[in-house]
Amino acid sequence: MLKSVRLVRRVGIGRRCMSTAAGLNGDMTFLDGVDKFFDDAAAKLPIENGILETIKSCNSVVQLSFPLRRDDGSIEMIEAYRAQHSHIRLPCKGGIRFADSVSQDEVEALAALMTFKCAVVDVPFGGGKGGIKFNKRDYSAREVENITRRYTVELIKRNTIGPAVDVPAPDYGTGPKEMAWIKDTYQQMKPDDIDGIGCVTGKPVTQGGIRGREGATGLGVYFGIRKLFSNEDLLKKVHLSSGIKGKTFIIQGLGNVGYWAAKHIQASGGKVVGIAERDGGVVNSNGLDVEDIRSYFVGNNGLLKGYTKGEFVTDSGELLQSECDVLVPAALEGVIRSDNARKIKAKIIAEAANGPVTYEADEYLTKKGVLILPDLLLNAGGVTVSYFEWVKNLGRLRFGRMTRRFDEEAMTSVCDVLEDVGMKVTESHRAKLQVGADEEKLVVSGLEDTMMDASQTMYNVAKENGVSLRIAAYMMAVRRIASDYGYSGIFP
Ligand code: GLU
Repeated sequence: MLKSVRLVRRVGIGRRCMSTAAGLNGDMTFLDGVDKFFDDAAAKLPIENGILETIKSCNSVVQLSFPLRRDDGSIEMIEAYRAQHSHIRLPCKGGIRFADSVSQDEVEALAALMTFKCAVVDVPFGGGKGGIKFNKRDYSAREVENITRRYTVELIKRNTIGPAVDVPAPDYGTGPKEMAWIKDTYQQMKPDDIDGIGCVTGKPVTQGGIRGREGATGLGVYFGIRKLFSNEDLLKKVHLSSGIKGKTFIIQGLGNVGYWAAKHIQASGGKVVGIAERDGGVVNSNGLDVEDIRSYFVGNNGLLKGYTKGEFVTDSGELLQSECDVLVPAALEGVIRSDNARKIKAKIIAEAANGPVTYEADEYLTKKGVLILPDLLLNAGGVTVSYFEWVKNLGRLRFGRMTRRFDEEAMTSVCDVLEDVGMKVTESHRAKLQVGADEEKLVVSGLEDTMMDASQTMYNVAKENGVSLRIAAYMMAVRRIASDYGYSGIFP
């Protein structure tokens, strides 16, 4: 068994977990939990210990503090991080989170998850993750913009951002607006980087983004659920028939990921009987209308209170413990821990968030027979489409307008590029490319194929090795990364 010891290999001023190593309500820390899952998977693989330690360790963490001039004239120090977990594939890739919970432990754990997630869907990036410790709701739009731009400059100063180095993306608390500021700041500071537009993904479409990126994580969650739910053997284990139709779902988090996942689940016949948010939750055993509740939520300053088409419950934690077939945590890590795992009634937990189930809770629930669809696979749709965006930026591709004028030869090469990045170019896509490509359709088909293939492989690995889907996903990832080390060797 591999020891749970991290190598001290960091650069910058990061120190291991500083004040942030507190466990999650008695459970181990997020990072220790990720390491423990890794160890469990690694123990099943015939890979040299030194290589395993190399894969497991976080390569570097930048810890920042910089001043913000507040609107009232005062100065406040802002704490922020960027972790680069793996450099075996470059650039590093992963979101930037704006939240009070941000800590070094958290970004290291999330960056590690990105490395493994990218490997599971075979997207050629190393894992990274950034975070700024603040709650956006307490700051004006100007202050949020200044924090984002200053953070970007701090990363540029340390060569910790760039299309070939490290490419951020949206995460909890961030979206296209923040990505546009990051891109603009980068291009202002580095005007001669010809690939500068690819320094960040999840940008607005007019700023070099790709159609379909915003809903990609939620759509990927849905594709993963749909594929795994079509597997009779798997569903039999939790005494459910196959298919999404007629199953009851509780969604935790109505942000970008939760909303899109819930929308697709509902469109394919799933019944969303509860939605939990930070101020409480809404329950309706006849099913909630996802579109309707989301527009209420958005117009009500991100709160559910006052929504009348369901019963409002003030304790959203309680909603997680309500009767349902499938629980979809789609917000933050550590929401299902040993202190509430015993009360979970769902038969399936679909991890749309990163790390929503702690190591201890996972152990307990898996033993009890709850089926957990792991984050490494289920929420990989976001980074998959980020990859398409990055390729589009670096290849200067403009689906549609440019391809319309292409001759046969150029058409073939565009199709080759698309197939190379994992998009399935069917005859009908080819025809559409000729008359103006439908970018979003291509993105969706590439995402669908990626999620279907990865889900099937994960299931096969779990079956062959008699392990949980999560351990199977880690095994897939570790095998692929170890094989990269097999070719590259250890430098120098
Ligand atoms: N933040 C997202 C994740 O956790 C997306 C990362 C990306 O697109 O780079 O997967």
